[in-house]
Amino acid sequence: MRIAVLSQGPELYSTRRLVEAATARGHEVRVINPLECYMNINMRASSIHIAGEELPPFDAVIPRIGASITFYGCSVLRQFEMMDVYTLNGSVAVTRSRDKLRSMQLMSRRGIGLPITGFANKPSDIPDLIDMVGGAPLVIKLLEGTQGIGVVLAETRKAAESVIEAFMGLKANIMVQEYIREANGADIRCFVLGNKVVAAMKRQAAPGEFRSNLHRGGTASLVKLTPEERSVAIRAAKTMGLSVAGVDLLRSNHGPLIMEVNSSPGLEGIEGATGKDVAGSIIAYIEKSVLKRPKLSGPQG
Ligand code: ADP
Repeated sequence: MRIAVLSQGPELYSTRRLVEAATARGHEVRVINPLECYMNINMRASSIHIAGEELPPFDAVIPRIGASITFYGCSVLRQFEMMDVYTLNGSVAVTRSRDKLRSMQLMSRRGIGLPITGFANKPSDIPDLIDMVGGAPLVIKLLEGTQGIGVVLAETRKAAESVIEAFMGLKANIMVQEYIREANGADIRCFVLGNKVVAAMKRQAAPGEFRSNLHRGGTASLVKLTPEERSVAIRAAKTMGLSVAGVDLLRSNHGPLIMEVNSSPGLEGIEGATGKDVAGSIIAYIEKSVLKRPKLSGPQG
């Protein structure tokens, strides 16, 4: 097959591993920077160009679109869909997954366990918002944050009020969430591929830190999932419409709570912690999916 990896960083671990795994399985791979693509939206012959050259046909596209270029990156991905190319994650699902609040609303409708979460616009609603999520301590999150940046633990009601007011003053979109203390600064990353969790790791925050992101000094280790955790992670990815997803959950006193579903989960942490060839599994999954895929025409929405 001819496979394109849509990524801005050919040198990034995840991109390199996908190229390596695809090449090892006999495929031809090209890394394409979505920002270098320009497109012809045309009734008969849609096409994608880079520096004066029209891209050759591809059988499959693996989107690895950074959060900061979601809009343009997803337009390029949609263009591949219009050209009837199989995309590992679709443009609609990737766009949807980038909005944390929208993702949580979709999951709650499907009965998936989530931390109690509130969202408001007016400063005068702050006291009620804090009560709604059970009072302090609570977690305040910027809707567009990644890698733990923009996630704040407010220990007291006063602190919560000031931080929420400050974010609102900056016109930042935030959500307010109950603090799951019993998670003890740890979360679980489930790497979902189709109907399976192919790898899972526990991330533990650095001492004195509640955010377990590896970018914030967290450490990763192998973890055994409960059947409930496994099934809720798969359901979360399905609800979002993602074939590949990094589903983050917290272990609470009343079962697993989904925190986030990531549509471009990194491979370095999970392959390092589990020793599994996740990149190889992704390519094998694409091979199967392309074979049994019905021919569609046009974008998926
Ligand atoms: P990001 O998308 O920026 O990584 P997250 O929502 O995943 O933001 O939060 C970062 C980290 O903070 C999580 O991995 C988790 O360890 C911790 N955390 C987030 N929300 C909560 C919460 N409600 N209760 C306890 N810990 C939390």
